[in-house]
Amino acid sequence: MTQTNQQSSSHQVAEKNQAPTITLIGAGLVGSLCAVLLAKRGYNVVIFERRADMREQSMSAGRSINLALSNRGIHTLKQADLMDQVEPMLTPMRGRMIHDLNGEQHLQPYGQRAEEVIYSVSRGDLNKLCMTAAEAYGNVTIHFNSRCDAIDFDKQQLTIYNELTEQNEQHSFEQVIGTDGSASSVRNAIHARHSQQNIVEPLGHGYKELSIPPDSEGNFQMEPEALHIWPRGGYMIIALPNKDASFTVTLFMPNEGELSFDSIDNKNRLQQFFKQQFSDLIPLLPNLETEYFNNPTGRLATVRCNPWHYQDLALLIGDAAHAIVPFHGQGMNCGFEDITELMAQIDQHNNCQTAQFNWQAVFSETDKLRQPNGNAIADMAIENYIEMRDSVNDPKFVLQKELAFELEKRWPDQFVPRYSMVMFHRLPYRDAQQRGETQKAILKELTQSIDTIEQVDFDHAKHLVNEQLLKVNLNP
Ligand SMILES: Cc1cc2nc3c(=O)[nH]c(=O)nc-3n(C[C@H](O)[C@H](O)[C@H](O)COP(=O)(O)OP(=O)(O)OC[C@H]3O[C@@H](n4cnc5c(N)ncnc54)[C@H](O)[C@@H]3O)c2cc1C
Repeated sequence: MTQTNQQSSSHQVAEKNQAPTITLIGAGLVGSLCAVLLAKRGYNVVIFERRADMREQSMSAGRSINLALSNRGIHTLKQADLMDQVEPMLTPMRGRMIHDLNGEQHLQPYGQRAEEVIYSVSRGDLNKLCMTAAEAYGNVTIHFNSRCDAIDFDKQQLTIYNELTEQNEQHSFEQVIGTDGSASSVRNAIHARHSQQNIVEPLGHGYKELSIPPDSEGNFQMEPEALHIWPRGGYMIIALPNKDASFTVTLFMPNEGELSFDSIDNKNRLQQFFKQQFSDLIPLLPNLETEYFNNPTGRLATVRCNPWHYQDLALLIGDAAHAIVPFHGQGMNCGFEDITELMAQIDQHNNCQTAQFNWQAVFSETDKLRQPNGNAIADMAIENYIEMRDSVNDPKFVLQKELAFELEKRWPDQFVPRYSMVMFHRLPYRDAQQRGETQKAILKELTQSIDTIEQVDFDHAKHLVNEQLLKVNLNP
């Protein structure tokens, strides 16, 4: 085992500005954006990242190439002064474009106002931008090819495996933040000390990425400003637009069973499956067979754990604390919101000027405030899978969506569709979930014996809304 340059280099920075050094494990989306906001506050930041620098090496294919960015994530990017640079990377998506079995398409808008859109963004480009922005502060050092394997909280030491030298190294730390994703080593270390819950719940479904290239003239082959969905009951395909006029297509399906990644294991079965279920997609997927058989099959799971912190030494944020299934497009957004809360707690309890730091309060308050919200979005993400693959074409579901927009128009301070509360506003996920339950019951009652919006009894609707829904603060 060797003592490395890392320790001395981080201490050199610390000597320069006397601020504490925070160690992050993982320079993914959450780690690198967290580093920007810590650096902005004057903290020194050292990050250990398992992978090579993605700015120098191409990313592996088939791993969630683009993501839906929405209001919560945008808020944190604004706090980091990055939205000017992020905006040119975004493609707005105004609603779900539903592709029926017969090839017909229809758009279900996400919201009623022009600004109620979500944005497709390249994961790699956003991650690279955050890394570069963090390093630009001069007090952030990212060590690539450096995998955290163990944490000794008594000695405040990390064991880092250096992939290049193939050596273990020991690094001391003051505070460590686990931003190392769903299989977090920091979570394992915290829970080896003290664990009330540390569950990884597999969904039983996985995903495979495919791609629709631009046409021969470099144009999009489908409506660019939409998130496309082929809902088919037990499974579905979605497609998000990219800036280069391609689409990243994701097939979600059970891992095992009659129609599953296991059973569709040869070219004939694959072609037959697509001909039956996604025939309009076949001409758009020239590399279907190669991509299906060569790209990895991602597994989906929900992580629920408690606690998210250990004393004044360690905290988990992002997927390390709450990996969720991707059907609400909120994993990254929720991770970014964790950062906003962490910074609020740092601003409240720490003072770099007077060198007073209360990390115990920062970590325990962040944990206390974020954990219920992490659990709420985890539940809502699973519900959204069922909604996307099963319900979007159900006439009752469509009627209730239409009515929800109408109630929002009439009583915007009280009734806001749950999807809008999650995607376009920042009230805590837990509150959105609870209000969503009440609203769902109201919608059910108002639509139980009718088929069209004209038949709704709006006097009764007014009574229910006033009786059950207090005024909502959408952006506390
Ligand atoms: C198919 C799919 C689609 C998705 N779509 C959306 C979407 O539309 N919108 C959305 O908001 N979210 C989406 N998500 C979720 C989103 O990808 C995650 O929530 C987000 O990437 C979490 O960021 P993170 O930085 O916490 O973790 P990660 O992105 O997993 O980053 C963790 C980093 O830590 C590094 N690391 C891991 N272990 C170690 C270790 N031991 N030592 C050092 N480094 C380590 C990894 O190499 C990585 O760089 C999607 C996810 C999937 C799978």
